[in-house]
Amino acid sequence: MHEFTPAVEELAAEILKYSLERLKDDPPLDGPRSAEDLFKEVGNTITAKGLGGHEALEVFTNVLAKACISTDHPRNLAFIPSAPSEYANLFDLVVGASALYGGSWQEGAGAVFAENQAIQWLIDLAGLPESAGGVFVQGGTIGNLSALVVARAEARKKQGNAERWVIACSEEAHSSVVSAANVMDVDVLKVEVDKNGRLQGATVAEAIDHLHSTTKTRVFAVVATSGTTNLGIIDDLKGIGIAAHDRGIWFHVDGAYGLAALCAPSVRHMFDGIEAADSFIVDPHKWLFAPYDACALVYRNPDLAKQVHSQHASYLDTLKDDNWSPSDYAIHLTRRTRGLPFWFSLAAHGTDAYAEAMEQTLIVAQQAAQLVRDHPNLELLCEPELSIVAFTRKGWVASDYQKWSDQLLEDQVGFIPPSSNHGQPILRFAIVNPWTKISDISMILERL
Ligand SMILES: *Cc1c(COP(=O)(O)O)cnc(C)c1O
Repeated sequence: MHEFTPAVEELAAEILKYSLERLKDDPPLDGPRSAEDLFKEVGNTITAKGLGGHEALEVFTNVLAKACISTDHPRNLAFIPSAPSEYANLFDLVVGASALYGGSWQEGAGAVFAENQAIQWLIDLAGLPESAGGVFVQGGTIGNLSALVVARAEARKKQGNAERWVIACSEEAHSSVVSAANVMDVDVLKVEVDKNGRLQGATVAEAIDHLHSTTKTRVFAVVATSGTTNLGIIDDLKGIGIAAHDRGIWFHVDGAYGLAALCAPSVRHMFDGIEAADSFIVDPHKWLFAPYDACALVYRNPDLAKQVHSQHASYLDTLKDDNWSPSDYAIHLTRRTRGLPFWFSLAAHGTDAYAEAMEQTLIVAQQAAQLVRDHPNLELLCEPELSIVAFTRKGWVASDYQKWSDQLLEDQVGFIPPSSNHGQPILRFAIVNPWTKISDISMILERL
């Protein structure tokens, strides 16, 4: 018989205590250490006899965890950080302890049902038709790739094989689009953005028509970004969708960061045009208060995705029925039910709480922009559309920014690595954490 020994019981209590204490207060910011340094302290942790649960946990909590930056610290405003709700984090413990298989309906029906309801909320916010459906994948990178593979399959059905296939997107599109193109061995047409960094429908139309009239290569997908990672700029979704569909081309929206704000009434209008998307992604692990890792990948017509992604094998044929199996809709088979922490938090708190938390981050972003405008040494780079506030420090070169950022982390005040815009160094706050207060922003700005 499987025994839950006193040692396991004790370890469970220790793990729970550690997890809860981390959730209770602001987590420490912490920071990286070299592998040599870590080895000096912990040595080889993989041994023939094992360290025992207690000691292995100590090694982790006392040393290794402290060599990882907390992405949910309210003054971690780097890249796109994370801010899981307490409920979402706690429920991740349940997911971890439940041996749920999220690949098929047969094995994971209840969990998949819940994930699908959470996805349905996003589908309804976007205004896609009833036919739409989706799946939680590991991240935006896999989400974009999975959608683009379906887009190419559709283009092949319509046009046969082109000499080269091409994805059209803006110069400001996320690096994962180029990565997807590399994996798929297709080309990328980078279309110029306007002076505000926004991709416009007319420019997309012109660029595609020019390419098609001068080469035998064919654009099979247009990717619009709704919320660029660096500056939070939303492309002209309406115009780009029309440009794509007028030419029979798949319209994909990469909203890994920004589409989360679909639930915020104050900015919802900026996403007009999303309802025409053939597919879109949004990462709940970025700005929808869910832990890593979860990207919601949504298709207007999921059957098209199933035709491409469903895996066939003698031992899988038993699963080929009319039920909704998540493994059919992306590049994966076995999957963690990674949408469940998001579902639990959404189900428990209700969608109004999401709208409120989202509006809170937008307000802090606006207040932060005002503090930057009022700061004698700083210049706001552009008006924040969502929750990214980007600016420059007068008289500084790249090395000054880096030094300042390193010191900020060293002093455990915040984590704000420098970025760049058109080759010029910049600083940026990505505010996705409802616990980030304007006083946190002031504390950072005082050091500039
Ligand atoms: C973060 C991001 C991605 C990639 O998502 P991952 O979850 O990191 O793989 C794609 N597109 C945009 C716009 C992003 O901000």
